[in-house]
Amino acid sequence: MTDFDFIKKELAELEQTDLFRAPVCIDSACDTVIRIANAEKTLFCSNNYLNLAGNPRIIAAAKEAMDKFGYGSAASRLISGTIKPHIELENALAEMFNKEAAIVFPSGYMTNLAVLQTIPQKGDLILLDKLDHASIIDAAKGSDAEFRTYHRTQFAFGETSPVGGFGRLEKFLSSEDFNRKFIVTESVFSMDGDFADLKKLVELKKKYNAYLIIDEAHAFGCMGKTGTGLAEELGLLNEIDIVIATLSKSAGCSGGFAAGAQCVIDYLVNKARPFIYTTAPSVANSAAGLCAVEIIKNAQDKRKRLKENSDYLREKLKNLGLDTGASTSHIIPIIIGDNKKTLEISKKLFEKGFFVVAIRPPTVAPGTSRLRISVQSDHTKEQIDGLIDALRQILNG
Ligand SMILES: *Cc1c(COP(=O)(O)O)cnc(C)c1O
Repeated sequence: MTDFDFIKKELAELEQTDLFRAPVCIDSACDTVIRIANAEKTLFCSNNYLNLAGNPRIIAAAKEAMDKFGYGSAASRLISGTIKPHIELENALAEMFNKEAAIVFPSGYMTNLAVLQTIPQKGDLILLDKLDHASIIDAAKGSDAEFRTYHRTQFAFGETSPVGGFGRLEKFLSSEDFNRKFIVTESVFSMDGDFADLKKLVELKKKYNAYLIIDEAHAFGCMGKTGTGLAEELGLLNEIDIVIATLSKSAGCSGGFAAGAQCVIDYLVNKARPFIYTTAPSVANSAAGLCAVEIIKNAQDKRKRLKENSDYLREKLKNLGLDTGASTSHIIPIIIGDNKKTLEISKKLFEKGFFVVAIRPPTVAPGTSRLRISVQSDHTKEQIDGLIDALRQILNG
């Protein structure tokens, strides 16, 4: 009998431990307010940090590209799928990041697979922050290089013995068992909203002659004078060997990219399987991305509002006695711990008109389930105050 009993058993276990997950269907455009099951909800868990997902200029750019080039690109990039908007986007990204070249992929996930499974090779060592995004971990696992983890603070959440901080990283960096070493970190950590210590990592990379690759997925658009991310904000962009980011978050589009030296990009074009063996992104994606890049470069005002909103909300949450962890950015976790309790608060918020999803293991470490609030530049003070009021009622009731 092939009745998938082995799967059903595991699903039942997920249900019992409050870890079963199912997507919520949204029936509107993505803005600060969305529609779910015929009711309006104020959205506090999307990565639409700059509210560009529904931006009319971006939509017009996508439409124009579709009118001219069609929708499907009909082949992989190295066959006949490279269409003008793809090249224009890559050139614009290279220029924006002040790198020799850039390459776009259908997603940020694929970008990490491509870079970490192509550039680091057999005999090399990849060094990951313990809380790096799943796409980075998956990429390292599938790489011919070996990988080890460190943690940016002495103790990672849920760890009782030290896994950090940089002492452990230095130990690996000074090891003579490997050819090359690649430090790979998120810049703004996606579940905790804190920053990588890029200054320290640049220092270590230089000291040990290692490579530094950063994933600016949550910082792109949101930080730095021209919006490239945390490295720019800290004046370190030129010290980073390969910058990875995604157009799927603050840019409100879709697709990932990497920027770096011409030889790195040429190598990826020739060797990266997630580039070669998949159909090129739709031209609508690339044209929309190009428009978003232009908007982001000049979005200082949006970035300012995003920061003001984030600081305001975090302060209010702390005043309620909530644990916002190490957050210093537009990603603000409320760490609850227990899976069931986290789900309950999320459900009660939903009933009060706020959509904040519960994040549970395996996305975060066991015992650190949380509500992960994502702030948007267009959130109003009223919307933020409304969320705080709802939380206060829930906590007191
Ligand atoms: C979201 C995310 C990705 C994946 O990007 P997609 O374009 O959504 O596939 C990669 N890295 C980090 C750090 C992320 O947060």
